[in-house]
Formats: sequence, C-alpha cells, structure tokens
Amino acid sequence: MNHFAYRAHQLFAEQVPLSAIAREVGTPTYVYSSATLKRHFRVLDQAFAQVPHLLCYSVKACPNLAVLHLFSREGAGFDIVSGGELERVLRADPDGAGKTVFSGVGKSEEELAAALNAGILMFNVESAEELLLLDRVGRSLGRKAPFAIRVNPDVDPHTHRHIATGIHTAKFGVAFAEAASLYRKGRRMRGLRPLGLDCHIGSQLVDAAPVRAAIGRVADLYGRLQGQGLGLRFLDVGGGLGITYREERPPSVEEYASAVFEPLRGLDTTLILEPGRVLVGNAGLLLTRVLYRKRIGQKQFVVVDAGMNDLIRPALYEAHHELLPVRRRRGAAVTADVVGPVCESSDVLARERRLTLPRQGELLAVMSAGAYGMSMASNYNSRRRPAEVMVEDRRFRVVRRRERRSDLWRGESP
Ligand SMILES: *Cc1c(COP(=O)(O)O)cnc(C)c1O
Repeated sequence: MNHFAYRAHQLFAEQVPLSAIAREVGTPTYVYSSATLKRHFRVLDQAFAQVPHLLCYSVKACPNLAVLHLFSREGAGFDIVSGGELERVLRADPDGAGKTVFSGVGKSEEELAAALNAGILMFNVESAEELLLLDRVGRSLGRKAPFAIRVNPDVDPHTHRHIATGIHTAKFGVAFAEAASLYRKGRRMRGLRPLGLDCHIGSQLVDAAPVRAAIGRVADLYGRLQGQGLGLRFLDVGGGLGITYREERPPSVEEYASAVFEPLRGLDTTLILEPGRVLVGNAGLLLTRVLYRKRIGQKQFVVVDAGMNDLIRPALYEAHHELLPVRRRRGAAVTADVVGPVCESSDVLARERRLTLPRQGELLAVMSAGAYGMSMASNYNSRRRPAEVMVEDRRFRVVRRRERRSDLWRGESP
C-alpha cells in the first residue's frame, strides 16, 4: 500500500503532482511519501504488538536524515553497519544510540570505539576476532561492551544469491556450532557483556518458511544459552521481509509475524527486528525525464536521464521496477529497452518493457525505488547524485539537494 496514485491521468505523491516536483527540483529526483513511510512502520509495529519488541530500521536501505528523523519520531530504533551510519543516526536523533544495534562483518576499531562511546544498545559481532577486539576496546574505555553473536543459521532464503546472507557459503555471522563457545569466552572478558543473540538470513525474502526455520534454530540456541545463565535480553531476528516489485507475493506482515512468533513460544525475550526494504521500498520512486527515443534494427530504445549510477538495482540484481508515465495518455504499446546515459551496456532500467512510447521530455516514475536506491547511488561517469524530496500531504521539501558540479571534485587536488 502506498500513496502514489493517478488523479485525472496525472501521477500524484499524496496531494502533490509529480510534475510539480520535476518542474521545481528537476530530474532525476527521488521522491518519498511520508504518509507511506509512517503507515508501513505502524503496520509492522502493530503486527508485533503482542510481544516486547523494538523495530530497528536498517539505515542502509535509505539513510536520508529526514527518513531517519521520521522513523525516530515513530519510536524506531536503528540498525547500522558503519560508523558513518552511526553519525547519521545521531544527527537525526541525538538519543538514538541507545536503541541502535551495530551489524556488519568488518567493523574497524575506530568504529567500535565510537559506537561504544555513543552508548550503542548492542554490537552484533560477526567473528571471534571481532569479539576479542571489542573486548580490548571495552577495557580501554573502561566499559563493558554489550554484544550479541550473529549466527549463520545456514538456511537457504530463496532469494537472489547477491542478497542471501544466512547460508553457510556467505561471509556473514559465525558458524552455528561456534556460537556457544564464543559466549562462554565473552562472558569471562572484562570488556564485554553478553546481551543478545542475532541472525539475519537475507533480503527480499518472499517465503516465510526459511524465516521460520532460521528463527527456530536461533530460538533453540537462545534457550540453551539462557539455561547456562548468560542473562541475554534480546533476540534479534534481522530484517529481510520482501516487497512486491512486480508479481512477488511476500508474506504479509501478519504472516511474517506469526512465522517469527511460532518458534519463539515460551521464550522470555525482547525481540529486535531490523526491517529496511519493507518500510521504505514502496514509499519511494525515482522521477526521470525522457531524453531521446531511437531504433536500432528491430529494437526500440528510450533513453532517460536516470542511470545506473542513480539506481543500480536493475544492473546489479536484474531487479524489476515498474515504470509509470507521470502523465497517462493513449497510444500504441511498444516493446522498448529503457536505458540510462551511463557508458555501460548494463545501464538498462527496464529490458523489453511493454509501454506506451513516451515522447521526448515526458516524465517517468521508476516505482519501488525507496530502498537501496539513493543509498547505492554513485558519481560514476562524473554524474551528480540526484536530489531527494519528502512529500507531506500537500507540501514537499527537498531533503537533499542535487549535488553541485563542484561536489564532483570535492577533496581532489589537480
Ligand atoms: C541490510 C540488512 C538489513 C535490512 O534488510 P532488508 O532486506 O532491507 O530488510 C537488516 N539487517 C542487516 C544485518 C542487514 O545487513
């Protein structure tokens, strides 16, 4: 459910016509709907209302300060994967560290120290060596670093191989069999305090079965660790719930919640969830303008001003994004490749797509671009990264200005 819809053949974000945003801000531009973001958060939060829980929004999905601020006001915590994301959280919510968990396989000593100093809720530790380093950091700061071990539950999440994380061939977490001995070591170290257990099996999950299987294994382990008197308080089940880009039928949040609850029965814990995509994916779109049309042999191309540097998902994951005309009109349907201006053959937003051939200068909305859109944008081909706009009912505001030309060589010296 989102607040992007046609009214009299014009595509709107809430009460704002997208054409007005393009006129004022230019293209390409990411557009987010605050009503959709809030709705997604509240529906998910409600689905878990029957148990103690904390929704830690996964910052990397869409890290704009305005998005973080909105979720913080809704009561969210955060899931971060770098020191830079910690800085963002603190800017959006000065008290945010206490409800933030820190994940990631390669945290540096500097990042660990900054997060511990900031009062982070929990470190999701991904290796024995990281645990040793965290202990050293804790001791040198005279603190006990609260930690969870991220275990790799070794289930196949049935998603694209680039976003599967909880299978034994992925780089994430520690082997299931190794976890208990790490807790035994960790509880004896002066710079550490065991606080939780963590897993995250992958992204864009469209099947509840692997979630149930993974959480079953992790809940078992949690029970055993509690039996050893570790005093854990949090069971972090990660993120990953999928969304509909095209025809996927991901579990509803209620189905997802029951897949999480089922294996937990009787466990006395506070659940942590790390949702990213499910909160922001369908709450954002990428507004782009048609530059040229051309035919090469039998093939029709539409060249738009948003490239793989603005939205890399189609090139990286062969991801599908719906394309909607901002002004709908009659016309014969054609099959076209919609491509960006970047000098790479993989810079294709949509391959062999049926659409009404747009005219030069017309606007298209690349739908479901709120997650892993702007956050993965780059300056490749020395292209300025897009602006970001937040819509709130009848108003909209630029929440990140388009990069200036001079931003492109900031920090460089000839
Ligand atoms: C990326 C990530 C998430 C969020 O995944 P989504 O698929 O966007 O929900 C959650 N936890 C961790 C550890 C991650 O790396």
